Amino acid sequence: MKNFEIVSKRRLAQNVHEYEIYAPLAVKHCLAGQFIILRTDEDGERVPFTICDYSRERGTVRILVQEVGYTTIKLSQMNVGDALADFTGPLGNPTDLSEFENICLVGGGIGTAVIYPQSKQLFAEGKKVDVIVGARNQSLLMYADE
Ligand SMILES: Cc1cc2nc3c(=O)[nH]c(=O)nc-3n(C[C@H](O)[C@H](O)[C@H](O)COP(=O)(O)OP(=O)(O)OC[C@H]3O[C@@H](n4cnc5c(N)ncnc54)[C@H](O)[C@@H]3O)c2cc1C
Repeated sequence: MKNFEIVSKRRLAQNVHEYEIYAPLAVKHCLAGQFIILRTDEDGERVPFTICDYSRERGTVRILVQEVGYTTIKLSQMNVGDALADFTGPLGNPTDLSEFENICLVGGGIGTAVIYPQSKQLFAEGKKVDVIVGARNQSLLMYADE
C-alpha cells in the first residue's frame, strides 16, 4: 500500500465524506482529540482535520470532511487507491478527561468527528458516557448509529 493512500471513502451526507487513509506513522501515536494536516498534491494548501477514528492494526486514520472550499472539494474528487501528497500528525493535545467519571459529550454536525474517538476511548476506560449529537437537519446527523 502507498503512504497516504485512500483506503476507503464513504459519503455520509450531501457534501460530507469519510476517508480512511493509510498513515502508519501518524497512527502509531495518535489519540482522541488530536488532528492532522494534509495536502492533496504538491501544490496544495495545508488543511487541518480532526482524527475521527484510527486503527493501529490496519495502519489507518479516519477523517470526516465537509466540502466547503478549494482543498475539501479537491479531496472529494479523489478516490480509493489515490494517494495524498502528505498527511502530518498527530498534532495538538489529546483530550484529558481522566478526572471525571460521568461525562456527557455533545457534538453538532461535522463536530461529531471529535467526540466519536473521545467516546470510544472513555467507554474503553470504563467511564459512564452519554453522547448527544445534533445537526441542522436529519441528513447532516453524523455517526448516529455508531
Ligand atoms: C484543528 C482543526 C480541525 C478541523 N477539523 C475538521 C474536520 O474534522 N472536518 C472538517 O470538515 N473540517 C475541519 N476543520 C475545518 C477545515 O480545516 C476547513 O474547513 C478547511 O480548511 C477548508 O479548506 P478548503 O480549502 O476546502 O476551504 P477554503 O477554500 O479555504 O474555504 C474555507 C471557507 O472560506 C470561504 N472562502 C474561500 N475563499 C473565499 C473568498 N475569497 N472570500 C470569501 N470567502 C471565501 C469558503 O466559502 C469556505 O466557507 C478543522 C479545522 C481546524 C483548525
